[in-house]
Amino acid sequence: MSDCIFCEIIAGLSPANFIYQDGFCVVFMDIHPVNPGHALVVPRQHAVLLPELDTATVGHLLKIAQQVDNALRHSGLRSEGVNLFLADGRSAGQDVMHVHLHVIPRFDGDGHHLRFSPSYHTPASTSELGQNAEMIRKQMK
Ligand code: 5GP
Ligand code: ZN
Repeated sequence: MSDCIFCEIIAGLSPANFIYQDGFCVVFMDIHPVNPGHALVVPRQHAVLLPELDTATVGHLLKIAQQVDNALRHSGLRSEGVNLFLADGRSAGQDVMHVHLHVIPRFDGDGHHLRFSPSYHTPASTSELGQNAEMIRKQMK
């Protein structure tokens, strides 16, 4: 895919620090690490959104993320906890429009927080939860 920085990295046309590569995905260091060791698990196939990928590839990405998570915890880098994060679409914070799964090492006092708007602190009503569940359930394939 032209104009995709991750496709360029996968093709060897732009540099990156690789941790792992196989026939379906690559893992390289994020250029702006949240904490040292922050890595990106990226499918070789160019897809913008997660639902565009076949389920075997999605499962493979999680399997490799699990291995990176485990490697981080034994690496000597501070990794007392790990966040897996995937921004699926611009409104969800996706900046690079090629699917990627962040593997972010975390430790107590690292200063990073997920922030939610004040509305988050009001629980949803039972009827709203039920309606929303029904809307999604009907679309599950
Ligand atoms: P997103 O916001 O799309 O979930 O995350 C994109 C991530 O890709 C960011 O954390 C950003 O630092 C990283 N990134 C963007 N451009 C490059 C690049 O050229 N090389 C590497 N290694 N990471 C990049
Ligand atoms: Zn791409």
